[in-house]
Amino acid sequence: MSIEIREVTKHYGSFQALKNINLTIGKGELVALLGPSGSGKTTLLRMIAGLESIEEGSIAFDGKDLSTVHVNQRDVGFVFQHYALFKHMTVFDNVAFGLNVRKKSLRPSKKDIEQKVHELLELVKLSGFAHRYPSQLSGGQRQRVALARALAVEPKMLLLDEPFGALDAKVRKELRRWLRKLHNEMHITSVFVTHDQEEALDVADRIVIMNKGKIEQIGTPSEVYDKPVSPFVYDFLGNVNLFHGRLQQGKLNLGSAQLDAPDYLDKDGADAVGYVRPHHLKVERIRQNKDEIAAKITFMHSVGPTWHIEMRREDIEAYVEVELSKEEFGQLDLKVGEIVYVSPKEMKVFIPEDF
Ligand code: ATP
Repeated sequence: MSIEIREVTKHYGSFQALKNINLTIGKGELVALLGPSGSGKTTLLRMIAGLESIEEGSIAFDGKDLSTVHVNQRDVGFVFQHYALFKHMTVFDNVAFGLNVRKKSLRPSKKDIEQKVHELLELVKLSGFAHRYPSQLSGGQRQRVALARALAVEPKMLLLDEPFGALDAKVRKELRRWLRKLHNEMHITSVFVTHDQEEALDVADRIVIMNKGKIEQIGTPSEVYDKPVSPFVYDFLGNVNLFHGRLQQGKLNLGSAQLDAPDYLDKDGADAVGYVRPHHLKVERIRQNKDEIAAKITFMHSVGPTWHIEMRREDIEAYVEVELSKEEFGQLDLKVGEIVYVSPKEMKVFIPEDF
């Protein structure tokens, strides 16, 4: 099922929680709504779920306006962070719940329900747990039961609000990989809310980055990470180096170096900031040209397949963070205390009016 959101706004009293939201989610996509606390993620998810009224704009599923479809006929499954399971019911009965409460004419037979629940428990890797009660499960297992319960009614769409938010880091990581695999098998259009950048980058087909009730950027994980469109997205999604300077004839003049800034040929004299991700900085041991920034290495450590290097700029009191692959690092043979020369391979310049 596809979701089309057009010009949606939402107020709580005089506070505007959502501002002109436009978003199309394709059939079978897994989309993350990512943003800091209070940015409007849950409000947007609840509007898609039909749990909040639409003030202005429209939401349609497969081209059909939501306001014309009753909540019970929307074929949507929910999993929430604290969507407590029914404590007095076994895992089996929790998963079977959505099927058992169906109108008699639509309810599958007892045998079919049994088979379905067992299939689902296998899918969420909880086959031997049917007769346990929620209190006898770990947090991660409970969330998997919640997912099985949501899937039992064969929804055309899954909405998940911080589904793994209450779990510890290791279990979170396992469950999100597992969610990704499950999605690859089932292809249910899914929208999940998270404030965890790594989770969104790891799991989603596309990420919607929200800030103060607005969408800042929509893109694949690599698009939003490597090509942020705003200072907010740069800051929110990872580490970034800032080069403060002044624009002059298509260059960002740092004093010690001039960096290319071709987008701003018409902004001569404006103060500006160059944003560069750590892996977009080139490092040379010997100066290649005058527009490289000299910096002294202060700290180096490896994280998985990359090396993180911290340097102190020689021209001003500022640090630079560089990320190199193992191969690049090996070729350079760097040592703490050495002076090296860095230059951006990719940089985006923003002027104050962009902030
Ligand atoms: P979090 O990550 O903290 O859950 P969020 O991005 O999901 O945040 P929302 O829950 O959508 O944010 O809230 C967006 C804004 O709307 C917040 O400032 C919140 O205080 C406000 N808000 C949400 N629900 C209500 C409500 N029922 N009444 C008044 N204000 C609300």
